[in-house]
Amino acid sequence: MPSVDFEKLKRCIKIPEAAERILVKREKEISFNLTIMLDENTVIEGDCYVVYHNTARGPAKGGIRFSPMVTLEETRDLAERMVWKTALAGIPFGGGKSGIRLDPTKITRFQKTAVLKEFVHMIQWELRSGAYVPAPDMGTTPFDMAVIYGETHMPESITGKPPRVGGLPGRREATGHGVAFVSIMGLQEILRQVPERTTVAVQGFGNVGSYTALFLQEYGCKVQAVSDVSGGLYNEKGLDIADLFEYTRLNGSIAGYDKAESITNEELLLLDVDVLCPCALENVIHEGNAADIKARMIVEGANGPTTAGADAVLNENGVVVIPDILANSGGVVASYVEWRKAKSGSITEASETYHTIDDRIGLAFSQMREYNQKFKIDNRTAAQAIAVEELICSMRDRGWM
Ligand code: NAD
Repeated sequence: MPSVDFEKLKRCIKIPEAAERILVKREKEISFNLTIMLDENTVIEGDCYVVYHNTARGPAKGGIRFSPMVTLEETRDLAERMVWKTALAGIPFGGGKSGIRLDPTKITRFQKTAVLKEFVHMIQWELRSGAYVPAPDMGTTPFDMAVIYGETHMPESITGKPPRVGGLPGRREATGHGVAFVSIMGLQEILRQVPERTTVAVQGFGNVGSYTALFLQEYGCKVQAVSDVSGGLYNEKGLDIADLFEYTRLNGSIAGYDKAESITNEELLLLDVDVLCPCALENVIHEGNAADIKARMIVEGANGPTTAGADAVLNENGVVVIPDILANSGGVVASYVEWRKAKSGSITEASETYHTIDDRIGLAFSQMREYNQKFKIDNRTAAQAIAVEELICSMRDRGWM
């Protein structure tokens, strides 16, 4: 099901029939099974998908997800969200996504490298032509991007590489930087509240969640709770996020950290905090728990953490939602800076990465608020309306309609 409700959008913007017909469909899909014999007794096997939803504005941009939960449906959904995200951010990319249905925690680093090399082999044209521009997503890391770069020698196309291998300083922190930045904009411009008086809970302490928590703490917020797959931690006085970074570096997870109370992931979502940042999984805020959410603002670090049914409940209850296509766009904006840097051969500092993220997100936030007030629509619908209008113009420019 598309993440955009076109009927709802048509109440505020004009969508030509031809545009809708193109935008509800996926442009290209590749499915394959990856089987590698590592030695006489070990065979690794997993389904893989590459989806381009729309490339009117540029190459299909989208991360590689490496997880046992990957499905074609999920890959399609994430590719579509990427189309709206790149259009809203105003960067010259379309939207795509790929997925490898394997559990990265059940294989060794060397086995994962072998899987990635075979993955590249299977989609050589997509990567070598620059038509697909991947980045890390759940289960993939800068190291994995370095492996893929080594197989393709396409520095501009493979984004999210480590800085020493042509990657971008600040790329690793980029998505969390953007989530924190837009949270502060939401606090100041919607909730009219200063960070120093703001409490926060962050679900997920992976790439997005950990840096979101760190930067929000640096802005002055009190981060009272975080979680990962092992469960959650709560400290009313605020957690020391830098200390948790060090703890997870040594222990691989937040499990066993003793300077906080243990809570469940479900309890974290229902905490009485000002800002809730779901930064782990899809569909964690659903019709079964939306009415019990006490946070005043939800900033979607993860892709699709709120179901459509939950969205309606949150709107009804006056909870401000900063949608994923805006909130977590820092990563894709940084990928754009990395792509641009590789094409020009220039040297880019982390400050330039952050500046570009703040600039793009700041502009999109203001446009979203403008539509929100002009058409009396929720933030998600407003952000989608801007993206769809952008796409319509781009498709006209390309002569697609
Ligand atoms: P990650 O693999 O680095 O971290 C995922 C985190 O979620 C980990 O802390 C993990 O323990 C936790 N988790 C897994 N299962 C869980 C469960 N059942 N309950 C609670 N926590 C659970 O992934 P990431 O890159 O941080 O991505 C997280 C989300 O952000 C995904 O939706 C991804 O698509 C989205 N996203 C990521 C980026 C990026 O640059 N990495 C950019 C935009 C959006």
